[in-house]
Amino acid sequence: MTIEDTVAVVWNNIVRSAEKSGRSADAITLVAVSKQKPVAAIEAAYRAGIRHFGENRAYELQEKAEALDLPDLKWHFVGHLQKRQSRPVADHAAMFHAVDRYKIAKRLSAQRQMNDLGTLPVLLEVNISGEETKGGYLCTEWDTNSEQKEQLCKDIERILELPAIEIRGLMTMAPWGASEPDVRSVFGRTRALMQWLASQYPQINWSELSMGMTDDYQIAIEEGATQVRVGRGIFGDRFYG
Ligand SMILES: *Cc1c(COP(=O)(O)O)cnc(C)c1O
Repeated sequence: MTIEDTVAVVWNNIVRSAEKSGRSADAITLVAVSKQKPVAAIEAAYRAGIRHFGENRAYELQEKAEALDLPDLKWHFVGHLQKRQSRPVADHAAMFHAVDRYKIAKRLSAQRQMNDLGTLPVLLEVNISGEETKGGYLCTEWDTNSEQKEQLCKDIERILELPAIEIRGLMTMAPWGASEPDVRSVFGRTRALMQWLASQYPQINWSELSMGMTDDYQIAIEEGATQVRVGRGIFGDRFYG
């Protein structure tokens, strides 16, 4: 299958899952995760109608952003970000999906401000499954564990003070190889957490729920995802990661 074909398959699946759950497919953003894939593959996906691309390495993002000049193309940074590599993300990202600590938000805010780049929309990454390899704020028992809740809320309140960062929602990842009911439960609990946060922080526009990858984006849409991050399903297998 060509990239045009795989993009069409993924779009059809998105439309079907949206219909199944009584939602409009227009409310769902497909982020094509192009990490480790060449610029030519990104161009092919762009020709097939993709406008949102996801990367998880700062310098790979920089290289690709500088090589490509396509109207309306938006870069999403979907991985853990080290402080000293924040510059390319501040410079090029339209959205950062993985705020996992205050300091990275503070750094990005300062860099956006310094270069007059406007506000950067961000999502807070939450670890709902408790899997140790997963990043993000530990929220396995957010509804009963006051310590987990306090840590997340403390950072939200500090991030709210940053001039060039705007919180827009949450991002999560399902545990590896989990059964469909378990995946569904992780996504459902993430949506419930965002509803609770919206009641606590009504001044924030909690519009985005980034969840679902190649193996589970259809379940994620049924559970309320507004952004799905699909890599292999569009570009084929990667050699690592
Ligand atoms: C790699 C990656 C994806 C895409 O994964 P696929 O299984 O290739 O769809 C999505 N989100 C994040 C955070 C990733 O690192």
